[in-house]
Amino acid sequence: MTAKIIDGKALAEKVRGRIADEVAALKVKGITPGLAVVLVGDDPASQVYVRNKVAACEKVGMKSVMHRMPATASEAELLSVVQTLNNDATIHGILVQLPLPKQIDEKKVLEAIAVDKDVDGFHAENVGALTIGEPRFVSCTPAGCMEMLADIGMKDLRGKHAVVVGRSNIVGKPMALLLLHANATVTICHSGTKDLAAITRQADILVAAVGRPRFIKGNMIKSDAVVLDVGINRLPIEQGGGLVGDVDFESAKEVASYITPVPGGVGPMTITMLLQNTLVAARAADY
Ligand code: NDP
Repeated sequence: MTAKIIDGKALAEKVRGRIADEVAALKVKGITPGLAVVLVGDDPASQVYVRNKVAACEKVGMKSVMHRMPATASEAELLSVVQTLNNDATIHGILVQLPLPKQIDEKKVLEAIAVDKDVDGFHAENVGALTIGEPRFVSCTPAGCMEMLADIGMKDLRGKHAVVVGRSNIVGKPMALLLLHANATVTICHSGTKDLAAITRQADILVAAVGRPRFIKGNMIKSDAVVLDVGINRLPIEQGGGLVGDVDFESAKEVASYITPVPGGVGPMTITMLLQNTLVAARAADY
C-alpha cells in the first residue's frame, strides 16, 4: 500500500488562520502578541529558521522583534538582552535560537528566560510541568507532532505502542512524555539501543528524531504504522543537495498507513506551535 501523507503545510495554514483570528481579537483589547527572537552568530540554517519564524509571526498579525548578536558575543551580553526582554511588557514570548556559540552556556541562557515568556518550552520549570502532566509551554516540535496525530483522529492513544527514536531535550524526551500523557505505551530509543529495528518494527506510531538522513528504512517499520519524521537533514551537493528527513520516505511510504513528508511535514507545524505558545503567553497578559 502507499501511505497517506500528513500534510503539515496544510494543517499549519488551518491552525494559523485560527491563531490570526485570535490575535485580531486580542488586538481589539489593546494587546498585540509580541515575540522576540534572539540570534547569536551567523549560522546559515539558524538564519533561515529565524527568518521563517519572524515572517510567520507577522503573517498572523503578531509583533516580532529580532535581536542579532555577533558570534563573539559574551554570555553576559546575551543574558543582559534576555533580561531586558523579560522586563519588556510588549514582549510575550522570547526565543533564543540554538545552537549558541561555544563561549555561552546554553543551559544558563535558557534558564534566564522568564518562565511565562518561555514559548520554546525549554525552561526546566516548563519541562517539569510537562513531566508531571500539567503542561504549560511545551516544546514546539513535539507539540506539532501531537497536533498532526489529532488531525488524523489519533488523540487518545490507549493501546498503541509509540516508539520515539532520539532522546534530545527539545524533541525526543518531550515527545515521549506527550505520547505517554495521551495514553500510549512508549519506548524511547537512542544510540545505545540494541537491535533498533526489532523495536521500531513494533511501533504503531513511530517518531524519528535522530538527525541522520534516511536512517529509518521501510523494513524497520510495521505495516500500517503512523510515521512522523522530525528530521531535517541537508544532503551534500554530490548526493543531490536538498532536504531529507530521518526516514527513507520512498521505502517507508510503501509500509506505513500515514507518513509526514520532509519538507512540508513537521517543520511547518513546529513554527505554528511557536505562534500558538506566543498567543497563549499574550492571553495570560490580558488581565
Ligand atoms: P540530537 O542530535 O540532539 O538528538 C539525536 C538523537 O538521536 C540522540 O538522542 C541520539 O542518541 C539519537 N541517535 C543518534 N544516532 C542514533 C542511532 N544510530 N540509533 C538510535 N538513536 C540514535 O537531535 P535533535 O533531537 O535536536 O534533532 C533530531 C532531528 O530533528 C534533526 O535532524 C534536527 O534537524 C531535526 N529537528 C527538526 C525540527 C523541526 O522543526 N522539524 C526541530 C528540531 C529538530 P544519544 O542520545 O544516545 O546520542
